[in-house]
Amino acid sequence: MKPSRAPAKLVLEAARRIDERGLTPPGTGNVSMLAAGLVYITPAKGGLKRLGGIEESDISIVSLEGEALEGPQPSTELPAHLMIYRRCRNKISAIVHAHPPYATAYAHVGIAPTHLAEAMALKIEVIPYHPPGSRDLAEACSEAVSSGADTLMLAKHGVLTVGGDLSEACTRLELIEYLCKLDFISRAARRLLVDSD
Ligand SMILES: [Zn+2]
Repeated sequence: MKPSRAPAKLVLEAARRIDERGLTPPGTGNVSMLAAGLVYITPAKGGLKRLGGIEESDISIVSLEGEALEGPQPSTELPAHLMIYRRCRNKISAIVHAHPPYATAYAHVGIAPTHLAEAMALKIEVIPYHPPGSRDLAEACSEAVSSGADTLMLAKHGVLTVGGDLSEACTRLELIEYLCKLDFISRAARRLLVDSD
């Protein structure tokens, strides 16, 4: 039976939401969802192609074992998406990976705004650096998600969030960027407005 294309529309909507809100630069980021045992994921992007600049037919369909069923070559971060779904498929149906500026800067230095995260109900974990697309990165991410984390700050790289659906995963991405931005501005304000007195 031919797989349904309906989930591809939802993946495309999420990719455009992330792109339109400036949460990842051109040539980066990926989105996937698990539906009826299949993974729908954005394609590998060459050059400066924007995450939101794809069409519905560009969404790849892959089995949980990694067999390509339909569409172009999947994102290079497919291994992490597959391993998270295989380990946590009962609670996770959507994954978003992006490089939003403030959260990525925090991830670069390995700092998480955990003191603010509780109010937003985010469960943050900092993942030590592993090369993008590698099996080690996939293992570290799936281990963190299976331990209950939903917002992963990938050291020297970016952010990966998960959710029961795409809206939840996208919202977590927006929240971690907001928290890092707020934390950064608060620290700067304290220095400029308080400490300089
Ligand atoms: Zn990345």
